[in-house]
Amino acid sequence: MKRLLAGFLAALMLPSSALAQSADEAAFRALYKELVETNTTFSVGDCTLLADKIATRFKAAGFPDSNLIPFSTPEWPKSGGLIVNYPGTDRNAKAILLLAHLDVVEAKREDWTRDPFTLIEEGGYFYGRGTHDDKSQVAIWVDSLIRYRQEGFKPRRTIKLALTCGEESSVPFNGASWLMANKRELMDAEFALNEGAWGQLDEQGNRVALLVEAGEKTSQNFSLEVINIGGHSSVPLPDNAIYHLTDAIRAIRGHQFPVQINDANSAYLSRMAKITGGAQGAAMAGLAANPMDSKAAALLSKIPTLNAMLRTTCVATQVNAGHAPNALPQRATAIVNCRIFPGVSRDAVRQTLIDLIADPAVTVTRLKVARTEGDEPPPPLTRKIMGPIEKVAGEIWPGVPVVPVLQAAATDGRALSAGGIPTYGVSGLFFQADLGNIHGLNERVGVTSLFEGREFLYRLVKLYANQQN
Ligand SMILES: [Zn+2]
Repeated sequence: MKRLLAGFLAALMLPSSALAQSADEAAFRALYKELVETNTTFSVGDCTLLADKIATRFKAAGFPDSNLIPFSTPEWPKSGGLIVNYPGTDRNAKAILLLAHLDVVEAKREDWTRDPFTLIEEGGYFYGRGTHDDKSQVAIWVDSLIRYRQEGFKPRRTIKLALTCGEESSVPFNGASWLMANKRELMDAEFALNEGAWGQLDEQGNRVALLVEAGEKTSQNFSLEVINIGGHSSVPLPDNAIYHLTDAIRAIRGHQFPVQINDANSAYLSRMAKITGGAQGAAMAGLAANPMDSKAAALLSKIPTLNAMLRTTCVATQVNAGHAPNALPQRATAIVNCRIFPGVSRDAVRQTLIDLIADPAVTVTRLKVARTEGDEPPPPLTRKIMGPIEKVAGEIWPGVPVVPVLQAAATDGRALSAGGIPTYGVSGLFFQADLGNIHGLNERVGVTSLFEGREFLYRLVKLYANQQN
């Protein structure tokens, strides 16, 4: 009873704004829960269903049907999505586009500590598949637009939101590419904001920098295949499919592609050099100043995240060989996933693999990609883009630097950039080096971090939406 009374008194002492805030925070939590708990994996999930649920929320918030455009194709009925239009007041002002993907990476219940499709709050974290990638951003975009409408916010420029499917799976349907090819006018915008960058925490949980994605590498899978006549395993032959394949994989393992410096990774190196300090900081400054500094490059290449930002990388990710324990293998295949530096062609990388393997028994094939991607350079980081990010970041996290980054992973931003819409990655969520175990087990996001990211993007989009041309 005493405790109850104390709680009641504490509630009375809360300022009214905090009470009001908790009401819209509750709405946000309900939305986020629905997003995480609607399975959108490729195997058994349904993006179209989730897009429907989101459209229902927009309708309930008063958005007219004419501003809600659901889409799907007959070939991929569960890979649909939704476009939302929030009209601006100035017809001559170019729109801005918010992008996020509804689908998530597969997650097996038996591998996870908690059910991946139940949103669980524990120890200051939200756990669940997609809590970070990318349902955090879906939730923040949807929630922001609904709040803008509730407030009667009238932006100068139209704000568009595209929620798509097919970002994570390697199936030949990618919603962002499909929209660019089939609904280009609905997507048209001066620039787009997307996933792809986050805030960086150190091991103690202190904020180090807010990253902004200014370009990303291309993901390309190659298959290595060896076909062999096989035979009885009691009579081994020197010509063996598995041995050809393992030699090929070993040749790739030993290779380092050349270091490349562009605007994005150079800006990252020079800005992070001061924060990092020590020998590593000196090497970062050295390499930014002189891309030929091989000593600095060698030192930084030992750090996996920096290595990935400095060059094309290729790594074996899957192998499959043999058909029986007592038979010589008739077939051995591997998938090699390459992350290609902006401006380098996929065919050039394939040729490098062929040269490294140097074995005509191994066939190297470039696998099809669903996403439309060009070899265009990363979009420029102008003041118009960076100014608002720095302003809002300074309000919420004073003193934390904003740092451009070349993203080693690929996102749907590539499809938009290839279609002429410069796309930047920015989220305002902060993570330690594990990035909340994105794509892995027990994916999670800090509760405070999610709410701060929500506030950050809500304010940021408002600034962009009222920007003068
Ligand atoms: Zn993602």
